[in-house]
Amino acid sequence: MDHKYQLEPVEVPRVETAHRRIVTRLPVPESLAVFAKLAAHEPVSMQGQPPVVWDRAEGLHVCDRWGNMWLDWSSGVLITNAGHGRREIRAALRAMLDRPLLATYVFAHEGRAELCERLAALAPDPSYKVFLVTTGSEATENAAKLARTYGVRRHGRGKHVIVSFEGAFHGRTLGAQMMGGMPALKEWIVELPPGFVQVPFPDGFRVEDTGFGLFEESLRRQGVAAESVAGVVVESYQGIGPNFLPAEYARELGRWCRRHDALLVMDEVQSGFGRTGRMFAYQHYDLTPDLVCCGKGISSSLPLAAVIGRADVMDLYPPGSMTSTHSASPLPVAAALANLRIIEGECLVEHAAREGAVLAAGLERIRRKHPRHFGKALCRGLVGGLLVVRPGTREPDAGVALQINEKCFQRGLLMFAPVGWGGGCLKIAPPFSPPSCQDAKSIDAENEALAEPTGRHGGRPSSAADRAARRGRWRPGSVPATHAEHL
Ligand code: PMP
Repeated sequence: MDHKYQLEPVEVPRVETAHRRIVTRLPVPESLAVFAKLAAHEPVSMQGQPPVVWDRAEGLHVCDRWGNMWLDWSSGVLITNAGHGRREIRAALRAMLDRPLLATYVFAHEGRAELCERLAALAPDPSYKVFLVTTGSEATENAAKLARTYGVRRHGRGKHVIVSFEGAFHGRTLGAQMMGGMPALKEWIVELPPGFVQVPFPDGFRVEDTGFGLFEESLRRQGVAAESVAGVVVESYQGIGPNFLPAEYARELGRWCRRHDALLVMDEVQSGFGRTGRMFAYQHYDLTPDLVCCGKGISSSLPLAAVIGRADVMDLYPPGSMTSTHSASPLPVAAALANLRIIEGECLVEHAAREGAVLAAGLERIRRKHPRHFGKALCRGLVGGLLVVRPGTREPDAGVALQINEKCFQRGLLMFAPVGWGGGCLKIAPPFSPPSCQDAKSIDAENEALAEPTGRHGGRPSSAADRAARRGRWRPGSVPATHAEHL
């Protein structure tokens, strides 16, 4: 990817709204020393985000030390579903700090028992078991290990193939990348083992054929017999999109897995905990996953991840043989428990579903304004994306997506533009809470940001809802105002 966020401070317009404040050049000249230190001591791979040095993050806002404040439409890239720095989560952490209980290895603690019970209650069946780990990659790797172990033990060594999807992302560790569907990310593996295959993801855009026949046909073409498949790993939505499975395809996939005793593994690392307007995105489909991978929004804060799965599969490994040093570390567990209480107590899943309709309409409005530059506007719940394409084509334009993202950053709006799979996706995923905030002028920020790289002025917001938002109030009967309406 040739476009890098620039580290030369530039003059940017002053911004002063309820949710955004930009009062310096950007990047802040005084912050450059931090970036220089990082550049000297960290791999270049860590430089993929707009140059903000985070100092505080609370609710919807991220602040630096120099008086700037951004409205975070990324939720820290899909972590802080319940909002940044929630008071309840901080209180739970403080209580654990003061107890003190900071590390337990895999010795038992009460929080671990409570969290496993709570997560199992969210599973397709309460008999499911929960293995708590630290990162999403660890969750997907463990799910693949469990699926393979199940296949091999139950049916013999021939049943070991893991099927995943082209364009998929399951993490950056070796096994997770072998399951990943972006060839550029796994060139380094050089010799890919034969037991991991990918089939096309039926997004209806790049892959127009959304029939399930494509799945079977692709396996046949790759010489993979259905009986050899131990598991199918699928993101409940693919991140560069967000692309959801077509309903009928998903149903067929579920049936196919049952017919061949292949475990269905849903990767919910980014889609879980309400993001799409359901607690888990697989609930949009008529599917019962055998294993569910969770991460990110599970705690809205500290590193924690989980595999939730069928008890007979989760119990395949004897005591001491499927663990991780920081499994269920007390602080992340306390954070996750507080986070679940917030999500449930404030009905944030329902809130995300309601807001999703507003976000979807806003994105579609922008797409229609720039039809040659945005190939598609996708959204469900509080995750949306605009697919930036080379004018008039279906070819993603990663460079322009990053430029738009940079312009948004300069106007006090944090979004993200993932670069994998050709990039080109401008992704929007605001925290769900606090639900009553709005910054009507953010629509202008994004419109202006779109205007420069696409060479067209985005114009002023024009719908009745926009006008109402700009006046800071809502017409009777309109959808409750929140950050989603900033579009
Ligand atoms: N699966 C999906 C769908 C993800 O989006 C991610 C992270 N972006 C991962 C797995 C890996 O999670 P982590 O970065 O915590 O290892």
